[in-house]
Amino acid sequence: MTLTPEQLEDIQASRANPQATLRAVAPGMEKHLYEAREVLDHGFVRVIDYMGDDSAIVQAARVSYGAGTKHVSNDEGLIRYLMRHWHSTPFEMCELKLHVKLPVFVARQWIRHRTANVNEYSARYSILDREFYIPQPEQLAAQSTVNNQGRGETLQGAEAERVLRLLKDDAGRAYDHYEEMLSQDGQQGLARELARMNLPANVYTQWYWKVDLHNLFHFLRLRADSHAQYEIRVYADAICEMVKDWVPAAYSAFEDYRMGGVNLSAKGVEVLKRKLAGEDVTQESSGMSKGEWRELMAAFE
Ligand SMILES: Cc1cc2nc3c(=O)[nH]c(=O)nc-3n(C[C@H](O)[C@H](O)[C@H](O)COP(=O)(O)OP(=O)(O)OC[C@H]3O[C@@H](n4cnc5c(N)ncnc54)[C@H](O)[C@@H]3O)c2cc1C
Repeated sequence: MTLTPEQLEDIQASRANPQATLRAVAPGMEKHLYEAREVLDHGFVRVIDYMGDDSAIVQAARVSYGAGTKHVSNDEGLIRYLMRHWHSTPFEMCELKLHVKLPVFVARQWIRHRTANVNEYSARYSILDREFYIPQPEQLAAQSTVNNQGRGETLQGAEAERVLRLLKDDAGRAYDHYEEMLSQDGQQGLARELARMNLPANVYTQWYWKVDLHNLFHFLRLRADSHAQYEIRVYADAICEMVKDWVPAAYSAFEDYRMGGVNLSAKGVEVLKRKLAGEDVTQESSGMSKGEWRELMAAFE
């Protein structure tokens, strides 16, 4: 089970106890508060708290622009302007605090995003649960032949079965040994902080993760991208669904300019200008490398 009975009880208790507040409230986010969205086989992500909404971004921006600004007529237009021009600090006025349960190898990728505040479950203090990420058969893929940092065809038949068996057996055996080392039955019992070193990287951990909206968008742009590893992308996708409801105008600008937009180099702009003028530009005549050319063409396919 993804959530323990105690966690479920906590969620119900928190949701059953609404408080009156004078703070700005985002109705779209209220429905997500405390609720866990299941991710992978034992993981989840849930909103513990948030601060601000679309108006908080606009409010902060108006401090810097003052009353004299005429060229952005409405809040949504202002938010799109800010996103388009990389005016990022107004987005930092919104904050999100999440509780995430995730495999350790996903946590290692996630923790690289340094502009967040993290507090992780202590495996020095507590005993980790017997919960390991075992991929669904359709996620069990071979090494990609075109991208060293990616996966290719799905494994089939006996190989797929063998890999799944190895993953399950190794995790189970490692956990049995973890318990055996911890046990104080007829022995001293190894310290938790040492016994945990035997556990594989697919064991689950949990943390609280707090980040502002600007840095969250940066995280989502990298991790909800199709090139991100599936196992972190599913968390990013789940967070996107929450952010969409929390700050709809900012999220829509983010989708348009960041997720759906394309960064062009000066050479890329030149290629487009020449093509629009009717010239038959090739990679060789573009001055771009093969990789750059491939990526530029793929963006406009
Ligand atoms: C597809 C993909 C593949 C990757 N592969 C690898 C890999 O093979 N090996 C690997 O090690 N990492 C890898 N990474 C991690 C990547 O290099 C970044 O560490 C990670 O995406 C976090 O990005 P960030 O540093 O911009 O984010 P954050 O740490 O949140 O920082 C946000 C921004 O704040 C600024 N900033 C934060 N801290 C500092 C600082 N101390 N000094 C200066 N500026 C700072 C930077 O402008 C930074 O862009 C990969 C990431 C992705 C998405």
